[in-house]
Amino acid sequence: MQALKKESLTADGLLFVSNEPEPSLGHSDIKIRVAAASICGTDQSIYQITSRPGMRDEMLTHNGGNADRYQPIIVGHEFCGEVVDVGEDVDPELAAVGDYVTSEMHISCGHCQQCRSGQRHICKNIKVKGLHLDGAFAEYVVVPAENIVNLERFGGRDVIPPRLGAFLDALGNAVHTVMEGHVAGNTVAILGCGAQGLMASAVARTLGATRIYVTDYSDPGGSFDAKRLAERFQTARELGADFCFDTNEEAAPGQRRELMERARDEHGGGVDVVLEMSGAESAYNDAGSLVKNGGRILLLGIPSRPLRSFDFGKYAVWKGVTIRGVFGRRMFETWHAMLDLLASEKTGLKARLDRIIRPEAVPLSDFERGFELVRSHEAVKLLLEPGR
Ligand SMILES: [Zn+2]
Ligand SMILES: [Zn+2]
Repeated sequence: MQALKKESLTADGLLFVSNEPEPSLGHSDIKIRVAAASICGTDQSIYQITSRPGMRDEMLTHNGGNADRYQPIIVGHEFCGEVVDVGEDVDPELAAVGDYVTSEMHISCGHCQQCRSGQRHICKNIKVKGLHLDGAFAEYVVVPAENIVNLERFGGRDVIPPRLGAFLDALGNAVHTVMEGHVAGNTVAILGCGAQGLMASAVARTLGATRIYVTDYSDPGGSFDAKRLAERFQTARELGADFCFDTNEEAAPGQRRELMERARDEHGGGVDVVLEMSGAESAYNDAGSLVKNGGRILLLGIPSRPLRSFDFGKYAVWKGVTIRGVFGRRMFETWHAMLDLLASEKTGLKARLDRIIRPEAVPLSDFERGFELVRSHEAVKLLLEPGR
């Protein structure tokens, strides 16, 4: 089968389409033919591995320990497809050949303290398919049956078409973060206008946030220039944001100040909830400035290096703020909540999300173009189709 692998962790790029044997099926596994997959920020980090030492170390934790001993793995973890084989120990209630499914790609151990206390998503021994183990940018993928999310139970392709089914993993991150923020009846600031920030805008609107501010930082020399950011902000407004601000004070004089003043003056000293989805150092200080006393900051973005400055005294202690990290999706509460939200026509969530999916899919063999479209922010979410 055709599969996209990361050859080595010593340089950027180094992804290659390789001819691989189909993965073998264990007794408790399910084998899926991948219909569509989607490129995520994590995949971009793997692509540009030299600027993401944390990601490289993470990949090596279960694969050789150092870059010399790394064994190339198939990347990719956002996908949907059709069941083609079921291990002999799998309960037939879970899935049958022909079912339309996706999978949670975080594999928890089942026996650590976190797993045994209802927190499998932060399992101490977690392994991620597409990061530590072979993933889904391939014609076939095998997953443990207990990780399967059977989309037939949520209306099948009619309700969750593959163009949406391909990135439920990513949407699940946004849903998890917004739900942890308890946004209903509250004011929200979403920092970062990438795929997560956009999806979170739609979900926060759906879940009853009263006011949604979205920010990002334009980089005149980079790909997210002022023009591209203006397009992103337009999309954010279509998805649910009320107001968007460019926090680069040189490129957009006065915008950051206006945001801070509005948050302070109109909402009792700041917003109730900040969702940090950029990983950019400046955004953490924005989060601390924007949040009201007693508010909440949820962290989903991952900084590329340890932060040099964040004033915990000023932004956390004096303000009595709760700061919380969010990882993955709760297994499987987040999945169920997300699929119910998508299935309910009244929420309008599905129609809104449709705006962020690039209409044309890209064949897996043309992955370079797909990665470039996402890296340059020309596409928010795009589908990769293996075997085409
Ligand atoms: Zn992802
Ligand atoms: Zn565990």
